[in-house]
Amino acid sequence: MPIFFFRNDDVNILDQELVEVTRRCTEQGVPISHAVEPANVTDEAVAWLREEKAKDPRLIEITQHGYDHELRDRGEFGGDRSFEDALADLQRGRDILLEKFDGDFLSALNFPFGIYNQNAMKAADAAGFRIICSHFNARKSRRAMYTAGRALRMGQILGKHISYNLDFYPRTGMFAVDVSISFIDRYIGPHGSNTCTFHSLDEIKRRVEMWMPHTPVIGLLFHHRFHHQPEHMELITDAINWLKTIEGAEFLNIGEVYDRFCPNPGNGFRNG
Ligand SMILES: [Zn+2]
Repeated sequence: MPIFFFRNDDVNILDQELVEVTRRCTEQGVPISHAVEPANVTDEAVAWLREEKAKDPRLIEITQHGYDHELRDRGEFGGDRSFEDALADLQRGRDILLEKFDGDFLSALNFPFGIYNQNAMKAADAAGFRIICSHFNARKSRRAMYTAGRALRMGQILGKHISYNLDFYPRTGMFAVDVSISFIDRYIGPHGSNTCTFHSLDEIKRRVEMWMPHTPVIGLLFHHRFHHQPEHMELITDAINWLKTIEGAEFLNIGEVYDRFCPNPGNGFRNG
């Protein structure tokens, strides 16, 4: 301990940013879990990911990122989207990824824009996902809200996410493995742009140190398309090099976190 993992969102086309962000991790022996958009991923991107995965399967992990990443009234799976509608898209997406990656797919889902409603959570469970990846915020006010929400077995309070990090999401068989720290400070421009401001290395260090007392597992989040300048790539390498200096630091993929922390992995143990 501590354990770190890296998730990379919005995987669709094969571009230089995807290649380099992936290699900045794998060349250091650090796994990266790609959250792939089933409706948008190209055959070229799939072929490349499979090729990379074949070199060392634990370093590349394939998970599902919603279905088409289209903004609806609230995110892709929020607002008043129905259970049936969410289930159809999640299942369709899962089938696409299972087929394209020939079954070499971790049964893990994260919702685009971090937005979902309770129908979507139920649909994810019904579609057969075993791991749900959301967001864990270690700020004191958020932790207080999580504690209250967990005591009441609520998934959300007033539409706000309750993190069940390293526990089962209520009334589902899904185990939560949440990310805590994004490399991005602020998005700039419309949905789909590739402009943002990144956190500095010092800010990332500060957050890791702040989060460590509150969770044994810290997930760090990339969106590869924003890393189009050399200094954005250096930030990744610098962060990994610094994390490696932390005593006892381990780098796992999401499936390994699940296997280590879930009391009954794979069996769809139902909690409440
Ligand atoms: Zn996304």
